[in-house]
Amino acid sequence: MSHGAFSLLHPTGGHPESQERIEVLHERFTFDECAPASEEDVLRCHTPALVEQVRTSRGWIDADTICTETSFDAALLAAGAAIDAVRREGFALARPPGHHAERARAMGFCLFDSVAVAARWAQAELGLERVAIVDWDVHHGNGTEDIVGDDPTIFFASLHQWPFYPGSGGPSEQGETLLNVPLAAGTGDAGYLDAFAAVERAVHDFEPELLLVSAGFDAHEQDPLADMRVSVTGFTELARRCAALAPRVAAVLEGGYNLGTLPDLVEAALEGFG
Ligand code: ZN
Repeated sequence: MSHGAFSLLHPTGGHPESQERIEVLHERFTFDECAPASEEDVLRCHTPALVEQVRTSRGWIDADTICTETSFDAALLAAGAAIDAVRREGFALARPPGHHAERARAMGFCLFDSVAVAARWAQAELGLERVAIVDWDVHHGNGTEDIVGDDPTIFFASLHQWPFYPGSGGPSEQGETLLNVPLAAGTGDAGYLDAFAAVERAVHDFEPELLLVSAGFDAHEQDPLADMRVSVTGFTELARRCAALAPRVAAVLEGGYNLGTLPDLVEAALEGFG
């Protein structure tokens, strides 16, 4: 699930979250074209004021996050890709990423939280009652936690480097349907897969009808933005274990900033999802 427009919309200049991230994926993979999400879909997760800010702002809205005249369209299309990934049980190859976008605040390269929008869409439009989200991006999914962390119908688990950007997601930050798994810098495949056992137990007990994966690839050993050591085959194994957790599984691209390795990492995850 993707769209040719992702390489045209939301130009970020020399920023690591660049249009080239999608261009290298489009060179590798064929895809079905997604449709944009509606504002109604986005408003299940975000405040009207944030939607208006993303629609009208021009320039940097924080140190990492830019809004251009096409960013609103890109953010709606990215959320739409996540929704279509749920419909088709596929992988949304989209940008900008979403998991740092809180209810009322865009931040950390993220404008709308596509994975949260897709989870609430599945509940509203498919009638699903229990949805789980597993976030293996190297950064804590603070936006997703802000939106669904205290929602008893959506289980959220995040594995991430900690302490690290954005600072949240520490060991004491837990809830009934919230599991944070902070991991030390330098953690590789063995540490990730060990830690993943706790995620598997918790998600299994929650009995989700749908699992959404916030699939970032910035925990890879060659990513320029972080310090983890997950290998290509480590991502295959994480995906394989996610695929066993629910009858329906879909994935959404989050981070991953090494243009040379990103297509191989997505391919490795696709192999694991089966
Ligand atoms: Zn990230």
